[in-house]
Amino acid sequence: MVSENQKLHVMFLPYIAPGHMVPMVDMARLFAANGIQVTIILTTMNARRFQNAIDRDSRLGREISLRILRFPSQEAGLPEGCENLMSTSTPETTKKLFPALELLRPEIEKLFREQNPNCIVSDNLFPWTVSIAEELGIPRLAFTGSGFFNNCVSHSLEHHQPFKNIVSETQKFTVPGLPDQVKLSRSQLPDIVKCKSTGFSAMFDELNNAERRSFGVLMNSFYELEPAYADHFRRVTGKKAWHLGPVSLYNRDVDDKAERGDKSCVSKHSCLSWLNSRKPNSVLYICFGSLTRFSKEQTLEIAAALKESGHSFIWVVGKILKTDDDQEEESWLPDGFEDEVRRNDRGFIIKGWAPQVLILEHQAIGGFLTHCGWNSILEGVSAGVPMVTWPVFAEQFNNEKLVTQVLKFGLPVGNEIWKIWATQDSPVINRGNIKNAICAVMDNDDQEAVKMRKKANHLKELAKKAVEEGGSSCNDLKALIEDIRLYKHK
Ligand code: UDP
Repeated sequence: MVSENQKLHVMFLPYIAPGHMVPMVDMARLFAANGIQVTIILTTMNARRFQNAIDRDSRLGREISLRILRFPSQEAGLPEGCENLMSTSTPETTKKLFPALELLRPEIEKLFREQNPNCIVSDNLFPWTVSIAEELGIPRLAFTGSGFFNNCVSHSLEHHQPFKNIVSETQKFTVPGLPDQVKLSRSQLPDIVKCKSTGFSAMFDELNNAERRSFGVLMNSFYELEPAYADHFRRVTGKKAWHLGPVSLYNRDVDDKAERGDKSCVSKHSCLSWLNSRKPNSVLYICFGSLTRFSKEQTLEIAAALKESGHSFIWVVGKILKTDDDQEEESWLPDGFEDEVRRNDRGFIIKGWAPQVLILEHQAIGGFLTHCGWNSILEGVSAGVPMVTWPVFAEQFNNEKLVTQVLKFGLPVGNEIWKIWATQDSPVINRGNIKNAICAVMDNDDQEAVKMRKKANHLKELAKKAVEEGGSSCNDLKALIEDIRLYKHK
């Protein structure tokens, strides 16, 4: 138990992927804004992405700092500067990141022992932090990176294994025991879910056990978005959970929005002035998160669909999947595409880190073509934009179902196949399907599109209320801080 007048110290350990670091740093900053001393552990290149934001907080008098560790790139045979999942270009390089993280573990454990904080907020991908928390007699909070809905779907799939008796990969089955009818196919599930015997399944059991031994789970979500699932999760897992999101909404300063997660590769002025020249709800924003890579063939289909749709767009063109021939190419667009877009003033192309939150919030944005990463879903919800869903891997297919089958403010582009980071053999979604989904969401005269837009706008209002004083997330944060203070080691 920590007395009222003693300041709490909470240490955050984010995983090395932008989709985990970005919301965890937001959460850490939220804690600091609420009078808690905060330390965030990051390695050199990852820390650089957040330094400006942390400096801004420090200037406001908040007790927040980065504890920067050297990433053992050399020892792990990685190129210098390759410190997170976004910076790797091949599956082989990615695999080397995991042993490198193991090399860092003793140093992080030592740091926890030296600092002796009142609480550890750990990414759930670091299950070993639960032992350290137990040793120090302090609570460990696990950050899962996704929401209640996905956790409920995953729990049901693990316990009921409904995919086992399904003959065809594409046949739809209902996920058992959920508050709504949710349909998935085997082809949309990760291999680790389908084949429990893989090496990965032992790893997932370890993560689950660590979560069970933890004080509870922190969700970047808000109650009103998925109330039935927030209740269902607590009931079926027996875990304590606090919802603190959408955490992106705590970025109120324009620089915080523009630099969230990294320095943007375009100036906020150029981006905003282009958006200011557009009519409300007329621009489609396209971004597939920080990790997805498409083939040239797929990129070509997207470009053609955009052209044929006739809608204006901002397209964050990700890195392409490399073949042996294009060693040097990072992002790729069909010949003449950029010139044509510029000539017709049809779009704004971003090759690199985009100021996503700043863009989504602009009134000109009328739709979001998204890969359904959980952060992107929440950011789209917070901005009130209907979605065109294109899940690729991780838990993105589950998130898609929340949007298209439960909340119904988006339409699928029709990807049916789960593939890690979209490998070369991923089936290509053709321009016709992409264009149809875009037009169905962006058409401001269509009844169904209007309905989806209304729904999205309603969710935006609920999201805003949740983080305001007296809102559900704000109340949960206060309850959590009190729970940390009152924590007694068993
Ligand atoms: N993001 C961004 N600019 C980019 C790409 C991504 O700001 O150019 C942010 C995005 O706003 C989100 C996070 O990075 O907060 C990506 O997380 P998400 O869960 O959406 O997808 P992931 O990258 O984990 O697949």
